[in-house]
Amino acid sequence: MALAFDEYGRPFIILREQESKSRLRGLDAQKSNIAAGVAVSRILRTSLGPKGMDKMLQSPDGDITITNDGATILEQMDIDNQIGKLMVELSRSQDYEIGDGTTGVVVLAGALLEQAEKLLERGIHPIRVAEGFEISSRIAVDHLEQISHKFDFNATNIEPLVQTCMTTLSSKIVNRCKRSLAEIAVKAVMAVADLERKDVNLDLIKVEGKVGGKLEDTELIYGIIVDKDMSHPQMPKHIEDAKIAILTCPFEPPKPKTKHKVDIDTVEKFQTLRKQEQKYFDDMVQRCKDVGATLVICQWGFDDEANHLLMHRNLPAVRWVGGVELELIAIATGGRIVPRFQELTTEKLGKAGLVREKAFGTTKDRMLYIEHCANSRAVTVFIRGGNKMMIEETKRSIHDALCVARNLIRNNSIVYGGGAAEISCSIAVEAAADKYPGVEQYAIRAFADALDSVPMALAENSGLSCIETLSAVKAQQIKEKNPCCGIDCNDTGTNDMREQNVFETLIGKQQQMLLATQVVKMILKIDDVISPTEY
Ligand code: ADP
Ligand code: MG
Repeated sequence: MALAFDEYGRPFIILREQESKSRLRGLDAQKSNIAAGVAVSRILRTSLGPKGMDKMLQSPDGDITITNDGATILEQMDIDNQIGKLMVELSRSQDYEIGDGTTGVVVLAGALLEQAEKLLERGIHPIRVAEGFEISSRIAVDHLEQISHKFDFNATNIEPLVQTCMTTLSSKIVNRCKRSLAEIAVKAVMAVADLERKDVNLDLIKVEGKVGGKLEDTELIYGIIVDKDMSHPQMPKHIEDAKIAILTCPFEPPKPKTKHKVDIDTVEKFQTLRKQEQKYFDDMVQRCKDVGATLVICQWGFDDEANHLLMHRNLPAVRWVGGVELELIAIATGGRIVPRFQELTTEKLGKAGLVREKAFGTTKDRMLYIEHCANSRAVTVFIRGGNKMMIEETKRSIHDALCVARNLIRNNSIVYGGGAAEISCSIAVEAAADKYPGVEQYAIRAFADALDSVPMALAENSGLSCIETLSAVKAQQIKEKNPCCGIDCNDTGTNDMREQNVFETLIGKQQQMLLATQVVKMILKIDDVISPTEY
């Protein structure tokens, strides 16, 4: 395809090899696009909510991912269709902006597409449908604002944040430990948050995982961890107020470079050499001691002699620390990386409140914890779990929870989950439809129906009969004027989401509705699909 201009400067499109292109036009194009979008959203529909199913995805090289996260499922699926890719994009942008609600947004978009198809079949022009959806999304977003609640929290009262994070985690594979994981996520975010500017830099939160142990052993560390241990088993494992020398020079005597030769032919010569070597080590250790270092972290290894000497002189050391980790330690502790012993000075030492080595269970795994670092508020969430898949999924779930906590610090408004907010919006949108005299009112009613599909999917996934449950809840909302009634997925006996503590962030919900509407509008406006039939 090429774009050319005629003599008046008007652009026109030249389609080369016309016969080898396939082309869909008008209603056919819209219907085929809608079918593709709906197909993608059907896949995710069963994963929505606390009783949603998980998906297992196998990559071409055999890696397996088991997940419940909408964005991850779509990311890992190999979707060929361009409209399908738009849905992936949709989920990704929700993930990027909000972090949670990635399944819900696709389910909503799919429902909107289904409704749009019905309207198109009745002969309503796609543009009118798109306009109607746009009006409705604005009504819904405003209505969300009205039914939202603000709650107070501060550094000591983090309970509301924890509750909201728990709602997010309750639909994940890790929901067994949702309480403790939610607390970890909230504490991590509070540790790095700037409450005055309402800003959270999530880059300061590192999420690390190590296979082994139980999910319950997952912990929050106020500092960083390094997958290394002390070089000698008898060195102290607990150093308070550590002054850390960060070295990229080896603890060994200089090696004779090429063209130099050491001839040792007598015992005396050997003895001298040995003495010299020893002195060399001794000087190096002394140098570290002189500047006041209480811990040495070294990029290179050192032999047993040096190791023994370090132990003997009571200078704990860690060897073979990778370059990246070394930099991380240097930044966090405010130290400088020292490439030569001569350059080691007191100012270049990094400082940390506590450095400790921790062993795990029966395995020989040990990790080094560097906590309360001088220069950084960086924290680490350290995930334990039975296998790699579990750890990866926990990382994704923690990411969702961290994002939710961050969103709440930015804007502390919440709406009720379990489909309660959607049902309430549906009622509001339906009521507003009557005010529009034109064809749009059909599109607005259709939007209200599409909103119902989220609670419907929640009910269906929980094994409830969806139409009955939905109509009962909806009737209750209208009768009691209570926007907290939702789907009782866990069969707790009450469908008041306020009692069940099922909260979602206001901005997350609003974003879902806005993004889904935008994508659907975009798809509806495509009326010509030109693609090569063969490559
Ligand atoms: P998403 O990727 O969109 O966040 P989830 O699988 O996390 O999808 O499901 C989120 C939906 O599940 C939300 O609509 C939320 O309100 C609902 N939900 C979460 N926990 C509960 C619960 N305990 N009871 C009812 N609904 C819940
Ligand atoms: Mg979620």
